[in-house]
Amino acid sequence: MSTTEDETEMDATVIVVGGGPAGLSAALFAQKNGLETTVFDTDETWMHKAHLFNYLGIGSVGGSEFMATARQQVDDFGTDRRQGEEVTSVEGDGDGFVVETDDGTYEADYVILATGANRDLAADLECAFTDEDLVDVDVDMETSVDGVYATGAMVRPEEWQAAIAVGDGAAAALNILSSEKGEYYHDFDVPADAARVFGEHVAE
Ligand SMILES: Cc1cc2nc3c(=O)[nH]c(=O)nc-3n(C[C@H](O)[C@H](O)[C@H](O)COP(=O)(O)OP(=O)(O)OC[C@H]3O[C@@H](n4cnc5c(N)ncnc54)[C@H](O)[C@@H]3O)c2cc1C
Repeated sequence: MSTTEDETEMDATVIVVGGGPAGLSAALFAQKNGLETTVFDTDETWMHKAHLFNYLGIGSVGGSEFMATARQQVDDFGTDRRQGEEVTSVEGDGDGFVVETDDGTYEADYVILATGANRDLAADLECAFTDEDLVDVDVDMETSVDGVYATGAMVRPEEWQAAIAVGDGAAAALNILSSEKGEYYHDFDVPADAARVFGEHVAE
């Protein structure tokens, strides 16, 4: 399912390591807009310990319930979500990446790290770190290594909220989409898109 009618050919591939709010947000934006996206996740997200009253637009939701909806959402757009498969190594640079798990070897043009506070893969990739031992990123979440993005707690000293993690993932994916398109990419949908996708099921 895709709601976006952008004419640009998107043949790049994206691997997201970590399937919490940051990783699934990145996957949603990437796959929805035509990038072949794979997510690896070991399901140790902090969301299983949380109940959200501070996610704008949602009055109250259990963290695990939020994750179930998020997983369904990325699955509906065709993301290859590999639940329970741990990434053991990532190698490469802007010319492409090789990702290893116990089950296989995978290749991608871009890697988005979304492993919560765990910074090990960023260190292995030789991403630059700040004086506070955080992964150093720009506002688009791109690290010092071309094609590698970092999100969530690994890039922030304390602002550890789901809404911020979701924004990080979205920013990373949109930056990749802009790189591929060669100009700023806008993931904008309008009511007619909802009517086209969901037909008579669209809420008034
Ligand atoms: C007790 C508690 C209460 C909280 N309450 C709130 C709240 O009220 N509101 C709020 O906004 N936030 C709350 N939070 C914080 C919120 O849960 C986090 O901000 C959010 O989960 C961060 O999302 P993330 O995607 O960056 O990381 P995470 O949710 O930590 O997800 C990282 C994922 O990466 C996976 N992973 C790690 N390494 C690998 C690997 N090598 N291969 C594959 N997968 C890997 C992990 O298993 C995990 O599933 C709370 C947290 C806690 C602990």
